[in-house]
Amino acid sequence: MRSAVYPLSNARSDNRLIIFKHVRKAPISRSDISKSAGICKSSVTALTNQMISQGLLTEIGAVDTGVGRRPVLLDIVADYGYAVGVSVGRDNFVCISDLKANAIVCSDLDYGDEPSKAPQKIKETIEEILSLSNIPLKKCIGIGISISECLRELGENIKQELERAFGLPARVDTPTELLCTANASSCDGSSILISLGDELLSAVCIDGKILKGGNIEHFSIDCNGDACACGSRGCLGGYVSDEALRKNGYSTSPDNADTAEYIAEKLYCALISVCNLLALKRIIVCGTSEENGEKLINALRERLQSKAGIELAWVELSFETARNSVCSAIVNEYFERQ
Ligand SMILES: [Zn+2]
Repeated sequence: MRSAVYPLSNARSDNRLIIFKHVRKAPISRSDISKSAGICKSSVTALTNQMISQGLLTEIGAVDTGVGRRPVLLDIVADYGYAVGVSVGRDNFVCISDLKANAIVCSDLDYGDEPSKAPQKIKETIEEILSLSNIPLKKCIGIGISISECLRELGENIKQELERAFGLPARVDTPTELLCTANASSCDGSSILISLGDELLSAVCIDGKILKGGNIEHFSIDCNGDACACGSRGCLGGYVSDEALRKNGYSTSPDNADTAEYIAEKLYCALISVCNLLALKRIIVCGTSEENGEKLINALRERLQSKAGIELAWVELSFETARNSVCSAIVNEYFERQ
């Protein structure tokens, strides 16, 4: 007779994963993990002690709670392992990130104009950067490859080549998907990231995992609108891509008040349906702005008032955000295996 739906070992690994999720958001005490995750205190203590002896977690300074005993906080040991990040396309670089997915060293990647030379050049650059930073290959947990959708085939070639050369797990994601995972890590539930610019791009993460699929660019917001190459009419991208903004007489900067209102109105038409479908907890808009996207985020917040509990955030589209997100998915995958 079966005594439980899941074997005990599965329940333990599920609890380990839940604990990692909590500690990775921010340093946290054992009792707060227990309260927030609904895992009994003795299990949290046993599992976190095991993680500490493994070297993945550490205890850091106590905080003053104002009353009673001050609990010790647990944190990830960032240099327990490293991930290699490779970006090909808009930004070309190889970097090494710690287990908090912060890039600690970065090197430019130059493969000339010949994509066929990219896998070999990337392999050499990874060898160089590991040797220069004195990081042994055995401390590397995997390789994250960032490449746009239109270069996916090249991405798969690079993945196979690197897996063979280094014997590490590798994965390919788009820059937009990686920005979404990196910025959705503090959220349980669904997050959507919308990237503004020449092309309107989007990615969805559910509980930190990338949902592979379509793009909000072709979400129809007007069934009587202009015909789109995708077969639909009135697609969102036909209103808020840079080209569409210019065509409609708007500045492409979200710092411009009229542009911010216009984009917010169009995004809202699509997001209200997506919110209902995916029960979004976090909407991240990304682009370039000197004011942290404040006008656009405020205009969107006003329109989404009826949808309580949705967090809105702006992420600056920059080399730095690309560098610090390239390893986010491979690091997430690593913690899922622990
Ligand atoms: Zn379309």
